[in-house]
Amino acid sequence: MKKFSIGIDLGGTKILTALINRETGEVISHVKKKTKKEKGPKNIIKKMIDSVEELIAESGKTLDEISSIGVGSAGQNDRKNGILIAAPNLDCYDLDIKGLLQKHFDIPVFLGNDVEIATIGEMKFGSAKGCKDFVCIFVGTGVGSCIVKDGKIITGATGTAGEIGHMIVDLNGRQCACGAHGCLEAYASRSAIERRIEGALKKGRKSCILEYLEPGKSITSSMIRKSIEREDELVMQCVTEASEYLSGGIASIINFINPELVVLGGGLINAVDYFYEKTIKKARAKSLPVPAEKIEFKKAALGDFSGVIGAAFLEDRGW
Ligand SMILES: [Zn+2]
Repeated sequence: MKKFSIGIDLGGTKILTALINRETGEVISHVKKKTKKEKGPKNIIKKMIDSVEELIAESGKTLDEISSIGVGSAGQNDRKNGILIAAPNLDCYDLDIKGLLQKHFDIPVFLGNDVEIATIGEMKFGSAKGCKDFVCIFVGTGVGSCIVKDGKIITGATGTAGEIGHMIVDLNGRQCACGAHGCLEAYASRSAIERRIEGALKKGRKSCILEYLEPGKSITSSMIRKSIEREDELVMQCVTEASEYLSGGIASIINFINPELVVLGGGLINAVDYFYEKTIKKARAKSLPVPAEKIEFKKAALGDFSGVIGAAFLEDRGW
């Protein structure tokens, strides 16, 4: 087995590419580029190719030393054929990622989704190392999750298992981007918190988050953290409300799947301890007594790199 592989985390705003030591999980070097989806899918492929070439040149390695390229992308994937079927936040449809990258580099290319690669990263070298039955939940722009059973990722009949963000938590609730009403994502994501805060500000509520806001820019997780450190009433209220919904969703997962461990990650969890602590406490309280007693919660350990590390191991999928 070759010692190195390359992981690419293809997201709506950035493309992170890294050269990974397969034995240690070490990120040897990495390149970050803006996705700029408005320039089209061809440009996204070009950016991935340029990133890989830059990494190889920078590290002094040759393609012969690299066993594969793994790409994790948001959206719906055809894992078997390596085709990105539909990724609305990338404006990509039926994009043959595997075919195009393989043709260019002539080494094996594998495709997975963004939550799946972050979960593989946590399973190999992060918070879920050594655990065979767990669920990873990532909270950021949306809410995504991945289920691992007996050390294997459960993808489901159509490859879409783990869509915790579209668990319906309010039958007559808010409209979700998926078209349904009352999905968890419409209540517990950073975007949901952002909309709540903005709505309240428009109605004249006071908040210190106004001091951090820039015109035309969205509310970031770090702005939320800073406002909570200053005990801002509005932000604390919106975050508490989101944690109420998220903990309900997590408790349902704990009752339904009975995992050993729940790993929580993503921008909002990483940045806002208050949100993480509140959520896990409530999730335990809302779960049935027997699983609640045993369930363990951990924060994801690899941060922004969990995706690229996991993507580098997509070739081993099956374990
Ligand atoms: Zn939905």
